[in-house]
Amino acid sequence: MLEVIEKLLILRERDRIILETEAELRGLATERAAADTRSHSAEQAHEAAKHKANEIETARKQLELEVTSNEESIAKFAHQQLETKDNKEYQAFAREIEHCRKKISDLEDQELELMVQADEQAEVVATAQKDLDAANADKAAAHAAIDEREKNLQSLLDDTNTQRDEISEQVDDSTLDRYERLLTNKGPSAVSGIDHAVCGHCHMKLPPQVIVDCKHGEKVNFCPHCGVIIYYTSKMVLEAAVDEYD
Ligand SMILES: [Zn+2]
Repeated sequence: MLEVIEKLLILRERDRIILETEAELRGLATERAAADTRSHSAEQAHEAAKHKANEIETARKQLELEVTSNEESIAKFAHQQLETKDNKEYQAFAREIEHCRKKISDLEDQELELMVQADEQAEVVATAQKDLDAANADKAAAHAAIDEREKNLQSLLDDTNTQRDEISEQVDDSTLDRYERLLTNKGPSAVSGIDHAVCGHCHMKLPPQVIVDCKHGEKVNFCPHCGVIIYYTSKMVLEAAVDEYD
């Protein structure tokens, strides 16, 4: 095999590793976001549960204030009742006091109901807190694993880039330039083998002369259809007809 083809194949393998590693590194951002999602929803659920607990507590405090206000009214009416000499007024104060007592009783019933709700909500908050803690622990573990992978991928990328530079220096400028342009457009199949007399990249049938040129291995050959660098090794299968040109 042509020496430059051998070097291009090594270069192609290194470029393949570089492209795959770079793609994997880019994908880590998505993986990090996915690891954050569960934590984020658990955080939202926890906040919502706490918010509802606060609302119940606020409503209960409001009822307490209303109870106090009615108790103050009762004290005021009781005092006025003691002061008055008028029997009708006395009866009117008695009705007011009774009215306030009824209101206090209703308010206390409502307060009791809210206290039951508060107990239930406290359990919801506790469960949400547990979910959040678990989600945060999982998130931390996932991030640590992703960080570790990133470190390893970066190190593989750095090493492969160094090795790539070493081999690319051994390829002549014009072939390297053409290879790099092909790599940009076609990826690692910039250098493709011949398989059953077709180009390994575009799968179009190759003219027999091109195959013969590749077999002789005296110069770099290109696919006349898609332009990639093509090569042939004895391991590859050629159609019998082509061998006649050999
Ligand atoms: Zn082709």
